[in-house]
Parts: sequence; C-alpha cells; structure tokens
Amino acid sequence: MSNLSEYVCMDCGSLLLHTNPSTLESMKEIHDQLCIVKRQKLIAAAKSTPTVSQTASVPSKSQTPSVPASSSALIAANTAAPPAVATAGGGTSISLSGTGTNYSKVDGPIDATFKSTRQPTGTFQGIKVWGPIDPPGQLGIWGTEVCVDFDICVADGACIEACPVNVYEWLETPGHPASEKKPFMIREKDCIFCMACENVCPPQCVKIFQKGQ
Ligand code: SF4
Ligand code: SF4
Repeated sequence: MSNLSEYVCMDCGSLLLHTNPSTLESMKEIHDQLCIVKRQKLIAAAKSTPTVSQTASVPSKSQTPSVPASSSALIAANTAAPPAVATAGGGTSISLSGTGTNYSKVDGPIDATFKSTRQPTGTFQGIKVWGPIDPPGQLGIWGTEVCVDFDICVADGACIEACPVNVYEWLETPGHPASEKKPFMIREKDCIFCMACENVCPPQCVKIFQKGQ
C-alpha cells in the first residue's frame, strides 16, 4: 500500500485513501455530494440567510451543492460503517464447491456482451450468476448491474478500495485458478454508477450497467 494519497473530509472526518490520484479525486467528489454533515451545514446556512440570492452569494468554505432527497439512502450507505460480513440478500441456488478443478486462469477483459451470449444459471444470496459454471474452478460472471467475471478476477482488491458506497466484500472461493477470493457485489443495489471499480480493475473484468441496460 505504498504511495497512498488521502483525503480527509473537513465536515464529517471521513478518510478516503487510494493509490491512484484520479480515482481518489472521483471518490472525493462523490463523497462531497453525499456527505450528510455537509448537507446539514448547507441547510443550516440557508435557514440563517433567508433573503440573499443563492446565485449572487459567495459560498462559504463548507457549502456544497444540495443533495436530492432521493439520495438519502445513498447518504446513509456512504456514512454508515460497512457491515463486517455479507448479509443474506436473497436466495442461493448455486454452490461454490464441486468437482470442476480442471480450469486455467482466464485473461480479461470481461465480455461486455455476456447478457446476450450467456444464460443466468442461478443466484448466490440473490445475486445473479451467468454461466457456464463448474465450481470451484469455473465460476462465471456475477451480477446484474455491478458485474464481475470471477474467472478473470485476480483479487487485487482495487475495486473494493475504490467503491465509495461499499458495494463489495470479499467472498472466499477456494480452488479457483485465478484467485481464491472474489469481490462479491452483495450491496449491488447501493451502486451509484460512478464507474470507479470498472476503471481501476487491472484485468478489466468489471462491467457496470446502468439500471435497465
Ligand atoms: S460503479 Fe458502483 S460498484 Fe463500482 S465503485 Fe462505483 S458505486 Fe461502487
Ligand atoms: S479490481 Fe478487478 S481483479 Fe481486482 S479484485 Fe476487483 S474485480 Fe478482481
């Protein structure tokens, strides 16, 4: 973890870390938009200056653009401490164990057309899995909007570090030839489509789909 850049939010005290300065800048911008303490300061400032035009005034150091009410869930996700382990979010119909060990590591990038070339083969805690799979050596592509080709992933953790809303957590996958843990998108529904994880993945095995894609 050398050459880490950091950003400390002066309002809520959150610490953001990343080795890639451009990714850190994206994380900072997203945090600034979602920070509930900044928002509370903005609301308090607006109440104390009722007659001044917002467009003509010079914003104070702590003022940031207001956050839509619909973002409240994302704010909660961004400021709350992440749970230590994945929580069951739905049904599981596939197993990570089996007899499929005769597989080699697959090179990236992920096939961006997989939704038309592969079939959903089951779910793991509610997350869709696209085949073919033959656990533990072949695991397929996981996710509907936050999608990772588990057969390519080398588990360097860049996506987990980059995600500002803690969509991922590690899932142990013993016996897989590329890596024995994978970034499980257990909080896929919290994704704000910032693209940070897709952009930082070294073997390019992440593909983000906006809702409805
Ligand atoms: S695109 Fe979604 S999953 Fe990826 S880093 Fe951004 S919020 Fe997290
Ligand atoms: S950045 Fe890519 S290779 Fe690294 S853990 Fe995430 S999905 Fe796997």
